[in-house]
Amino acid sequence: MHIVLMGAHPDDETFASGTIAKYVDRGHRATIVHATRGDKGHWEIPGEELRKIRTGEMTKAAKILGAKVMFLDFEDANVPQGDVLREAFVDVYRKLKPDIVLSFHPLVGRDDHRRVGKAASDASLKASLPLHVTDLPAHRPEPSIYFFGKPISGQKPDTYIDITDYMDAKIESFRQHVSQWQEWGKSHDDQGDFMERLIERYTHRFRELGRKAGVGYAEAFIGKSGRKYAHELLP
Ligand SMILES: [Zn+2]
Repeated sequence: MHIVLMGAHPDDETFASGTIAKYVDRGHRATIVHATRGDKGHWEIPGEELRKIRTGEMTKAAKILGAKVMFLDFEDANVPQGDVLREAFVDVYRKLKPDIVLSFHPLVGRDDHRRVGKAASDASLKASLPLHVTDLPAHRPEPSIYFFGKPISGQKPDTYIDITDYMDAKIESFRQHVSQWQEWGKSHDDQGDFMERLIERYTHRFRELGRKAGVGYAEAFIGKSGRKYAHELLP
């Protein structure tokens, strides 16, 4: 299987990085596609320099998970909505031919995240239609899509993936995003080591999800209706 995670910024993969590490370990392939390189996520470093830093951090983070990485090079905090983004994702589907897609729920709060989730979801059908012509051939069948993030609709997860054995890889991968969580995060909140406290908070969150699923640690998803549930595909 090829699992493709579609996010907006380097570090968005953290929602599902344990799942990525787990299935790569089982012999599957994974690619992380982010719509931007996160070029506005710092108080001091200029955008051009930040792009390079965050590209490097993301490359290291993906390597720890065993995933490849790809960027669509849209501008951070200015991801387009509608057809432009959807068509970009149509070609991602056609190029990468995913069996499973992990992305933001289209009703999450932050606009870049919401736009990516909606475009990733909408592009799936379009990418499968041979008469929707782009430079690449149609990709069929449509992959199964699983959403992460907290939708404002209050919809609850229906699919839990046991990542107990992959928490170390998940945290080690997250630690690579130094420009975000050691530097930028600290300026939000100047009490001690921000990244370490964030890791504590995440550890608690994924342990709570694990408790709901009856395992040590878990990641949670909402399956797009009409598709097979992840546990049928991701045993
Ligand atoms: Zn983000």
